[in-house]
Parts: sequence; C-alpha cells; structure tokens
Amino acid sequence: MIIVMSRRATEPQVQAVVDRVREIGLRPEVSRGEDRSVVGVIGGNAYAYREAFSHLPAIQEIVQITKPFKLASREFQPHNTVVDVAGVPIGGEELVVMAGPCSVEGEEMLLETARFVASQGARILRGGAFKPRTSPYSFQGLGEAGLRMLATAREETGLRVVSEVIAPADVELLVGYVDMLQVGTRNMQNYALLQEVGRTGKPVLLKRGMSSTIEEWLLAAEYVLSQGNRDVVLCERGIRTFEQATRFTLDLNAVPLVRELSHLPVVVDPSQGTGRWSLVKPMSLAAVMAGANGLIVEVHPKPDEALSDGGQSLDFDTFRRLMQDLVRLTEATAGQPA
Ligand code: PEP
Ligand code: MN
Repeated sequence: MIIVMSRRATEPQVQAVVDRVREIGLRPEVSRGEDRSVVGVIGGNAYAYREAFSHLPAIQEIVQITKPFKLASREFQPHNTVVDVAGVPIGGEELVVMAGPCSVEGEEMLLETARFVASQGARILRGGAFKPRTSPYSFQGLGEAGLRMLATAREETGLRVVSEVIAPADVELLVGYVDMLQVGTRNMQNYALLQEVGRTGKPVLLKRGMSSTIEEWLLAAEYVLSQGNRDVVLCERGIRTFEQATRFTLDLNAVPLVRELSHLPVVVDPSQGTGRWSLVKPMSLAAVMAGANGLIVEVHPKPDEALSDGGQSLDFDTFRRLMQDLVRLTEATAGQPA
C-alpha cells in the first residue's frame, strides 16, 4: 500500500506516518517527489492496517497496490506520465522519434546524421559514447570525446541528446552532457547503476533486459523511481527467444500491456529489436499502432562502414521514407482511440 501525503504535508507530518508504519511492524519507504511525498508501506497485507493511519493529519489518500512494482503502477498513478526531455515531451500527444548512429564515430558523421534526422522531424539525437559491446575486442566508443561531439550536435541542430551510461561512476560525467540517460539492455538489472541514475534529475531511457520479463523490467523502473527520479521512459528493444532468423524478437505485446500496467511512457527500438534494417520500417509502424509513445532508430550515413550495428542501421534515404510513412500513419489515425 502507498500513503500519499497531501501537497502541504510538513516534514514532521511525514515522519509521524513513518513512525506509525514502524510501530505496527511494517517497513516504510519514503519517496519525496517534487510535488508531494509518498510513504510506501512494505510488508505482508499492509492494506489491512489502513485504519491505523486514520487519525494522522496531512494524508491525502491510502492506495492499495496489488502489483510488486508500486510507484510504476497505474494503480499508484492513473494518469499517463509525460517525461519532459529538456522541453521535448514523451508520453503526450506527439510521437517522438529519436534517431542517430549506434555509436558516435566522429564529429563529421555525427553532425551530418544529426542535421539530416533533424530535417526529417526527429526530436532527439541518439549515439553511444560508451558502448557495452559483447566482445571486448569490438569498438568500445569514444568516451568523453564522443559526449562532446553530441553536445556540439545539440547546439547546432537543437536536437536533444540521449546516450548510454554503462557504469555508476560515469553517471555524473554523462549528466554534464546529455538530456537523457540511457540504461541498456545488458544493464537493466545493474541495481547500483539504476540507483545512481535515480539520484539524478535527468530523464532515463530504460531498455528492457533481453532476457527479462515485463515484471522484472517494471521493477527495474521502480529502482529509479524509488530514488526520487520520476522521469523514466521504458524502451522495448527485443528479447531472446528460440528464433535465430532475427537478432532478437521484438515483443510488441509488451507495448499495450505495459501501458495498461504502468503510467510510464513506452518507446520501441526496432533497430536492436530486429537486427535487420529492412525490418525497421514495418516494425516501427507496428509499434506505433500498438501504442508506442516514440521510437529510437539507428541511422548512419554509410551503414556498410559503421563501427557497430551497421546491419540494422537505416541510411538517410530509408530514414526519410520511414518518417514520411509515420506522418501518414499518425494523420490517418489522428483522433481515434489508441
Ligand atoms: C544501443 O542502443 O545501441 C544499444 C546497445 O541498445 P541495447 O542496450 O538495447 O542493446
Ligand atoms: Mn546499437
């Protein structure tokens, strides 16, 4: 159960609730949002004790949360969260496209890509500077130099920037350069990293672990939320199945299901999700119809020469056609219920 404090609750009033939770032998988890504080009450059948709080002041409501994830659940917050990425809202009316190379390979290619994707309507530039490569001998990214290039591209194009952080110790560095921190599939259950990004005020793009269930993914989001950072965008990026014909199996079931279970925005990465550039457009369109709030797509000026993920990267011409189809699709379905 969650005890939602009223906006004007004072610190001693929150403390009184916390003390009461302890008195009855349950565990309090206080989460101080910008707007109000929430006291999560952890322990078997906590809701049965709700009457024990009826005499305390400044409680707005007591909500029973039946799911293992609490702050991420629709029960806790019925309305959709809209995450503000430095002025670009994700989770509202607009379908937000994030695009760019898998890895930042150099300033020229990054600027060229950024200018192009911006001209086609992308709002956020993606590009890895710290790459979590499966092999230690593969290109590992340009590190801070890559982050500087992203910042230059942001300045020139007005695109916001998202980039992956792979270690808790790097979080502070990334925060200085990017508008959104990406936690990758291989780190979805790196709880130290989740807590560290949860302590920042930056929006977080949380990729689904490639072998994680939806519940584990939402519990990973809960780690970030419970640190006080409410700006989490979930990203379905494909899961491991028996299928070998594609790199991963893009789980589009997850999109409408997670939107039922959670108030957090959901975006889809059809590039990692398929591993094949030719599947990116059809799966992007399918993702939008499934209710995705946005897409994150790999684009490279010369995919054949990319240092990572060339086979799943769109060239400029294909990206243009994708954006045209997305416009047609969103116009055709405007005003219809999701
Ligand atoms: C990426 O976006 O390039 C990436 C490595 O993503 P994921 O963590 O989903 O594999
Ligand atoms: Mn990639």
